[in-house]
Amino acid sequence: MPSILDPQLRRALADRLRYYHELGIYDFYRRGSSVPQGPVIDTVSSTTSQAELREEMPVRKSAVVATVAEKNIFEVLAPKPEDGIADPIAALKIIRSDLGECTRCKLHKQGRTQIVFGVGNPRAELMFVGEGPGADEDAQGEPFVGRAGQLLNNMIKAMGLQREDVYIANVVKCRPPGNRTPEPDECDTCSPFLMRQIATIKPKVVVALGATAAKNLLAMNSSLGELRGRFYDFKPAGVRSNDPTWQGARLAVTYHPAYLLRDPRQKTEAWKDLQMVMKYLGLKPSKPDA
Ligand code: URA
Repeated sequence: MPSILDPQLRRALADRLRYYHELGIYDFYRRGSSVPQGPVIDTVSSTTSQAELREEMPVRKSAVVATVAEKNIFEVLAPKPEDGIADPIAALKIIRSDLGECTRCKLHKQGRTQIVFGVGNPRAELMFVGEGPGADEDAQGEPFVGRAGQLLNNMIKAMGLQREDVYIANVVKCRPPGNRTPEPDECDTCSPFLMRQIATIKPKVVVALGATAAKNLLAMNSSLGELRGRFYDFKPAGVRSNDPTWQGARLAVTYHPAYLLRDPRQKTEAWKDLQMVMKYLGLKPSKPDA
């Protein structure tokens, strides 16, 4: 890029920046192109359409890289409204109000009742990220309150925590019609807000629940089976935390609770993922009936 910008180009860039700010996008980054993409290797029956089965959707093979964030080149171009606000409660309120009655993607006109922003401890050490609200969440305005939510609550309890101790959010904040998988443009439009929530909460660990959350957070296109079972270094894309001492979170991937409801045999594997997280956070499993 030339160091002295042509005035016309500068004006065009300024207009474009204003446009992105109106969309709630403040930071820009270029993703590294180091993750090789290969051919589609798996197939799945065309009847496999429910959220519970998403873990088995077709995947593209890609190399698993250790640190996605470090392969990104960040160029912070503009401050965000919550910059300089040390209190995470206040900062989350600012992000929520910046989101407003969002009409940035098509989900706003596809039957959503309300935006499901996120819930929990604004200073949580542990954060769970799901895919998007379902019918119950859309009705109540809170993530993971349906059947999958009950199972998530049990998983949290088994880890020796309460739901109120953690923070829970989704990749998209509006219910996709018929609980379909959120489309890439919807995820891309919504995820800057999730990234800002993560940078505000500064968790030690983020757990991606299911393939959609994992692929969006890691910007990787591997299958859930390939992604789980290890930690990734994670920094929310394109956002700087207010706290310079926060160097990002560890990210673990596990099965979506809705998938576990469909295939309870995978609970053992999910528990291994959670135990890895517990070990890192120094958590002890709750005693039965505790
Ligand atoms: N599934 C999700 O991914 N998120 C929710 O909030 C509920 C179900």
